[in-house]
Amino acid sequence: MSVLAPGTRKSCYKCGREAEVMVRYARLYLCREHYIEYIEERIMKTIEKYGLLSGVKRLLIALSGGKDSLSLAYVLSRNKEKIGLTEIIGLHIDLGINGYSEESRESVEKACSELGMKCFILSLKDLLGLSLPEIIRKSNRPPCSVCGLIKRYIINAASIELGVDAVAMGHHMDDILLFYLRNFLLGVKSDYLKLGPVIEAKDTIVAKKLRPLYEVYEEDLSLYAKLRGIKTVGTECPFKHNDHIEKAIKEMLDKLENHAPGYKLSLLRRITSSEKREALLSQEVFTCKYCGSPTNNKDNICALCKLTQNVFGEPRGLYLKQKLKEFLH
Ligand SMILES: [Zn+2]
Ligand SMILES: [Zn+2]
Repeated sequence: MSVLAPGTRKSCYKCGREAEVMVRYARLYLCREHYIEYIEERIMKTIEKYGLLSGVKRLLIALSGGKDSLSLAYVLSRNKEKIGLTEIIGLHIDLGINGYSEESRESVEKACSELGMKCFILSLKDLLGLSLPEIIRKSNRPPCSVCGLIKRYIINAASIELGVDAVAMGHHMDDILLFYLRNFLLGVKSDYLKLGPVIEAKDTIVAKKLRPLYEVYEEDLSLYAKLRGIKTVGTECPFKHNDHIEKAIKEMLDKLENHAPGYKLSLLRRITSSEKREALLSQEVFTCKYCGSPTNNKDNICALCKLTQNVFGEPRGLYLKQKLKEFLH
């Protein structure tokens, strides 16, 4: 995708007015209005293609305050009836990061009030007793991995507590490719099977998770949010560090995409083909011996209970779930 300079004399293929954007992978020139429409249609097509919303009436959406999840909230809300949803509920976790968290929270509140969407705002300090910076300090582990595991745990447990049919996540194509290649380059064993557009529910411990932005480029989301006037958190998370591997992967992927527009999309589709996703369904899920949440660890202790054992001297999965019950009803 590239934004055209004024006066390039290309016309929108839908309406013939002056084009503002060229979508390279689709070889399309579009005006602002039809570009917005095009991105929304791509998301709708992903939902249809992978049957993401089949059997889903009540949907939870995890909102960080960034462009990805807020754009998703706009698209889903605007098309709510068309896609057969009866209710969309937002969930935002206030991590207690000075400045950054307040701003994220404001962006989420603004979007939800504009969209008339019910939204739960939960503070990590209320749920676990400590804010994210405090947990990071005490755990001595990489900030992004601590933050990721806590958010995954809360989103899953909240979906189950609320009894929604699924939870939608704001992960886009570049997120998924980056995760996949980073682990590969670091030789980290990871569950590639979980990178598909849908993770099915299991028993009553794993909530169904959807990625409607699965086939959307990050740069398209940035431009979409900007053109739609969505106010997103402006500052970067202070824990975000300069990861050389991530930077190298992004540069490499962008070079390949530039050389062959559409490359990222075809790579993504090959990584998470349907046969691979089917293998996921037959995979065994272990449950945490302390809190009953799902885990891949054969020692039957989930990542959150392990982390809290280390930080508080006791596993706090059950404690957190009890708090969720209080705050969500
Ligand atoms: Zn147009
Ligand atoms: Zn646990």
